[in-house]
Amino acid sequence: MDVKLSERLGQLPPYLFADLRRKIAAARAEGVDVITLGIGDPDYPTPDPVIQELSRAALDASDPNRHRYGCDAPAPEFAKAIQSFYKRRWDVELGDDQVVCTMGSKDAIAKMGMAIMNPGDIGIIPEPGYPTYNISHVFAGARSHIIPLRPEKDWLFDFDEVPGEVAEKAKILWLNYPNNPTCANATIEFFEKAVAFGRLHNILIAHDSAYSENTYDGYKAPSILQVPGADEVAVEFFSLSKAFNMTGWRVGCVVGNASAVKALSTVKDNIDNGTLRAVQFAAAKALDTAEDIIPPICEVYKRRRDLVVDTLNANGWSIEKPESTIYIWAPVPDEYDGDSGKYAADLLDKTGVVVTPGRGYGQTGEGYFRISLTYPDATLKEALDRMISINK
Ligand SMILES: *Cc1c(COP(=O)(O)O)cnc(C)c1O
Repeated sequence: MDVKLSERLGQLPPYLFADLRRKIAAARAEGVDVITLGIGDPDYPTPDPVIQELSRAALDASDPNRHRYGCDAPAPEFAKAIQSFYKRRWDVELGDDQVVCTMGSKDAIAKMGMAIMNPGDIGIIPEPGYPTYNISHVFAGARSHIIPLRPEKDWLFDFDEVPGEVAEKAKILWLNYPNNPTCANATIEFFEKAVAFGRLHNILIAHDSAYSENTYDGYKAPSILQVPGADEVAVEFFSLSKAFNMTGWRVGCVVGNASAVKALSTVKDNIDNGTLRAVQFAAAKALDTAEDIIPPICEVYKRRRDLVVDTLNANGWSIEKPESTIYIWAPVPDEYDGDSGKYAADLLDKTGVVVTPGRGYGQTGEGYFRISLTYPDATLKEALDRMISINK
């Protein structure tokens, strides 16, 4: 008997990295020595003090709640650490009703649609962009209206491109700066425009801030919540994954607009029951010591960024060094006529190197490819050698 699946599942686009994984597996099966630079998942381990705090909290028999549902017995240290981090980092004050601990951002993004959208509603998403914004809408029975990001606008969302009737109807608008995959950064003036747009059209501005701490050369990413009054219309999704080498831990937070935070908490209480207390204590430790933990992590990515960009630029590319994220976003070589799928396939075929084709992030990502810097320097060097070998 075939199980009858939901129509919503049928509406999901193929998972970008699932397709990539299949191609890699096929090449490996043929004996190709594959090097993948496709996935943004830090290779360095979580810093020791954070792991030690996890162990301490997990072993603390004097804590009667250590095994309980994280939503019913949250670690007060977590919310305090978030509040203190936002105050130190951005001079933003968050009330107790403006913070919810999440199982990382992906989970929270996916549940936000269910928290605020009805079937038939519209949400606005940028393209190229992180696929989960659309998925959040689909699972809520809602639809996505795509607004392209364009290189000639420095990949910044242009609010004037939103058609009037879409702005009237939309419930939510997703932004992500520093941006995956384009490495673009927003200014506080940009966030002021976003807040004004949200206020004018009564749209929740959902800012995905996954890379705010992955920055270089002295660049500091702003928070949308620095805009006065932003918490009337905006929430920010912060995650420990990329900043603290904690992808597998599944911990982050949503902060800002109290009604949206509460709505998301309600969805979470009814589905996931929250994050293990020990993980919350450990996340608090990470945030409380962010000033010590983050710089050495950024040093590694900066070194790799320089290696990749300098090597490619010495071989025909002209890429500007991104000041943020853990990626390099570069145009495909001229001979591929902007066909990122063809370039990625050819590269895998001829060299065994896997890069992410830009069109996987949507039509306007076409013509570009993405390299992740979450691989050891030696791996990156070997991959670059192979990449430039077919470019000559
Ligand atoms: C990695 C990533 C996330 C999700 O990270 P989590 O591990 O779920 O916190 C969210 N948004 C963007 C743009 C990302 O690249």
